[in-house]
Amino acid sequence: MNLGLEGRTVVITGGTSGIGLAAAGVFLEEGAGVAICGRDEARLARTQADLAARFGAARVLTKRCDVTRADDVGAFADAVASWRGAADVLVNNAGQGRMTTFATTTDEQWREELDLKFFSQIYPVRAFKPMLERSDAAAIVCVNSLLAYQPEPYMVCTAAARAGVQSLVKSLAGEFAPSIRVNSVVLGLIDSGQWERRFQAREDKAQTRDAWIAALARSKHIPFGRLGVPEEVARAIVFLASPASSYTTGASLEISGGVSRYI
Ligand code: NDP
Repeated sequence: MNLGLEGRTVVITGGTSGIGLAAAGVFLEEGAGVAICGRDEARLARTQADLAARFGAARVLTKRCDVTRADDVGAFADAVASWRGAADVLVNNAGQGRMTTFATTTDEQWREELDLKFFSQIYPVRAFKPMLERSDAAAIVCVNSLLAYQPEPYMVCTAAARAGVQSLVKSLAGEFAPSIRVNSVVLGLIDSGQWERRFQAREDKAQTRDAWIAALARSKHIPFGRLGVPEEVARAIVFLASPASSYTTGASLEISGGVSRYI
């Protein structure tokens, strides 16, 4: 199947690690030019060098940008406009989860979490919308979590924010139709930078990574008995971003190894 991404311009927030980085690789394999952002300059430089070596420097743009800052996101959009003069796809991926219960979440943490989850969508959508509107195959993909539908007791504020983002995706899909499609992926546990950091912070330092992951999958009752890998999410993002899914908007695709308990 030809996904129709050859020559398209794809923007990915948070592309220096995990899911965003894997998605950048698949979009590049499909012939697109890819712009990514992140906050850490050193990781951006490493990612630029790696992707440029594999796909050619002309097809890769990296830019330091914190998606919770409107001025940073505006500068990222300006850089993409100068680079290719276009954007066909926006993947709102940057972010991370917060492990707290209601009792352990302070007001400041609630504000930070709501700010990250909502403005990591709002600022990029606003900044890239003029370019997306000029595309004949515009798509936005939001990387979201199954927590939106199935909250976990140890991620209370992240789950609430995730549910709000699913509502936002639905609203944007209606408001932007038919010129820009807006869809989301809702993820279970994916073995990425986030889980590597949690592994490094584990209590039992003698536990190997494989044993830690297997125990995690058991404790979460994941029918597949393992975590997903970023490439498994990347392929779904690329499908929803591509003209191959041209009649799909306001939809969400679950990638979780079967862990959801709702219909
Ligand atoms: P990683 O930690 O591997 O990658 C996160 C990426 O986002 C990095 O490139 C990071 O770079 C960037 N980033 C984080 N915060 C910001 C910010 N404020 N501005 C710009 N860039 C930022 O995590 P994942 O690949 O796992 O996460 C990708 C998305 O998927 C996130 O939104 C996450 O919450 C979501 N998700 C992940 C799940 C999982 O199990 N892995 C489950 C459900 C959802 P830098 O730190 O340099 O800014």
